[in-house]
Amino acid sequence: MIMMTMILKADSNNVINGVPVNEYMLTNHNPNNIEMPSASMEGKVIGITIHNTDWITTIEGTTPAEQYTRATVNGNMKDVRVHYYCDDTCAWQNLPLTLSGWHAADGDGSGNRRTIAIECIMSSAYNDTDKKSEDNCARLAAALLKMYNLSIDNLYTHTYWLNVRDGKKGSIDELNVMYNSYKMCPAYILPHWNEFKAKVQSYMGEPAPVPKPKTARKYLYRVRKTWQDTKSQVGNVIKLRKSKIITGIKKIL
Ligand SMILES: [Zn+2]
Repeated sequence: MIMMTMILKADSNNVINGVPVNEYMLTNHNPNNIEMPSASMEGKVIGITIHNTDWITTIEGTTPAEQYTRATVNGNMKDVRVHYYCDDTCAWQNLPLTLSGWHAADGDGSGNRRTIAIECIMSSAYNDTDKKSEDNCARLAAALLKMYNLSIDNLYTHTYWLNVRDGKKGSIDELNVMYNSYKMCPAYILPHWNEFKAKVQSYMGEPAPVPKPKTARKYLYRVRKTWQDTKSQVGNVIKLRKSKIITGIKKIL
């Protein structure tokens, strides 16, 4: 018997921010009756959650994102349901954006219930293919943030939601990369998360933040006849004028 590999045929193909996106909704295709999430995200989306999943080698004519989608349809992805799988050439959308996924391991928390999940397919090698996957993921995340009128601060890591779940405190930037013993995800992007974030921001059409130039420190001087004689103070001056200096000078930071 010859086993035929049935590669999925997408219902539609769109190009989003330069990324070809194949739409294959599990809500429309569920021949194996896999369990499906049911919580609505209509009007509730607060951000995008980035994940990494491992690179897989595929046969000709398909891509890892299609294969992960097919694995989901075939019931081989356990209870993971994400909105997008993204590889070096394209993305496959599995869930409508109005439906919550199962990806953040935070139960009914906002990660699962209120964010759109992108699984970026990469390896630890961080080779050119991995970088292309990451670039596609950044483009897609940027388009989604803009679509929902969200800002770059609404870009989350999977680990962010685990840290929130575990009661850790910190800013979004801190919690996005803070160590979590359960899982560090997206494992291959986290080591350069700030770079990734800047890339997403640039794909949103916003200039990447420019570090503020350090201004030269200015000292204030108080000039008095004597330091005790407060009434004689001529004011706070930035530059010392020699003629005004009598006896009392104090440098204030
Ligand atoms: Zn993850």
